Amino acid sequence: MAFPVHRPRRLRRTPALRRLAAETRLSPDAFVLPLFVVEAEDVREPIASLPGHFRYSPDRVVEAAREAAALGLPAVLLFGVPARKDAAGSGAYAEDGVVQQAVRRLKDALPDLVVITDVCLCEYTDHGHCGLLAERRGRLTVDNDPTLELLARTAVSHARAGADIVAPSDMMDGRVGAIRRALDAEGFTDVAILSYAAKYASAFYGPFREAAESAPAFGDRRGYQMDPANAREALREMRLDLEEGADMLMVKPAGPYLDVLRAAREAFDVPLAAYQVSGEYAMIHAAAERGWLDREAAMWESLTGIARAGADILITYFALEAARRLQSGGRGPAGAGAPGARAAAPGVSPAGGAEGERDAP
Ligand SMILES: [Zn+2]
Repeated sequence: MAFPVHRPRRLRRTPALRRLAAETRLSPDAFVLPLFVVEAEDVREPIASLPGHFRYSPDRVVEAAREAAALGLPAVLLFGVPARKDAAGSGAYAEDGVVQQAVRRLKDALPDLVVITDVCLCEYTDHGHCGLLAERRGRLTVDNDPTLELLARTAVSHARAGADIVAPSDMMDGRVGAIRRALDAEGFTDVAILSYAAKYASAFYGPFREAAESAPAFGDRRGYQMDPANAREALREMRLDLEEGADMLMVKPAGPYLDVLRAAREAFDVPLAAYQVSGEYAMIHAAAERGWLDREAAMWESLTGIARAGADILITYFALEAARRLQSGGRGPAGAGAPGARAAAPGVSPAGGAEGERDAP
C-alpha cells in the first residue's frame, strides 16, 4: 500500500513539523574552530582566502577563543605560523614555540575550553613538507621513521604547555603509536590523540596553505597523504591508528569524502571528526559573493550533510557563524534552503517567509 495512504509530504508541511522530523540536528557542541597563531605580538591580521578569519599572535588568540567559548563551542584547534623555518622544523617542538605559547595563554584564560593542537612539521620546515627529507632510490622523500621522533617531541611539548588533545596530521606510518608512547613516558597519559587518520592529498587545502604558509616548496604530498580514489584504504588507516592508540579519528576533507565518513561511522565506535577544509569554505564564500549561492543556506546544507554522513565533530571555518545563528534562534538548518511550505498556486514560488523558506521545486 503506497500512495494515497502514504504521503511523506505530511511531515514537511511546516517549519515546526520539519524540525520535529529532522534526523540530523546541528549544535555548537559539535563545532571546533580552527585558529592560526602567528609568532608575533599584538597581531590580528585578516586571511584573504578565508573571509572572516585572522592570524593571531599568542597574546591575541585568546580573544577569538573567548568568543568561541561564549558561543558554546567546546574546543578550538591550533595551527602555528612560526617566525623562522628550518630543514628539521625545529619550531614545531620548541618549548617556547608559537603554538606552545598560545596553548599556555589559552589554558590560563579559558581553562575549560578544550585545546586541540595540530601536530605536524610542514608549517615549520623550510621545504614545507611534513617531515624530514632524505634521498631514497634517487628521489627526495619524507623520511618516515626519523620523522616520528620529531612528531612525538612536538606532541609532548604541546602537552607540556597544557594541550588537552594532540592531533597528528602528517600521515607518517606509525606516528600515533610513537606519540602515545612518548606522551605516556612523560606522564601525559590523560592527553588524548585525535588522529587525522584519513587525510587525503586534496586540492581543497589551497587557502589553508596561504593561511599557514605551509605550501610545499617542491613536489606534492601524494607520497604520504591518501589517494582520493581510495576508501577501503581509509578504513585500514583508521584501524591501524586505533590499534596504535588513537582516541578519536578524523576524515579530511569532509564534503568530497562523505562515503568514507559513513563507512567509518559504521566500522568504528570512537568519536569521529570531519574537517570541512579551507577550500570547501572558500568555494561557498566565493560563489555567494558572485550571487550564485545563498551563503547561509549552503553553509547549513554542507554542515548537515557532513553530520548526516556520520561525523560527531565538525571542524569548520563556519563554526562561529553557525553557532551564533543557532544560539540566536535564527533561520537555522531546518529553515534554510528548505522547499517552501506555504500554500502557493501550482508552479508559483512562495515568497521567502519569516522562516526563510525559499522555493526550490
Ligand atoms: Zn603537514
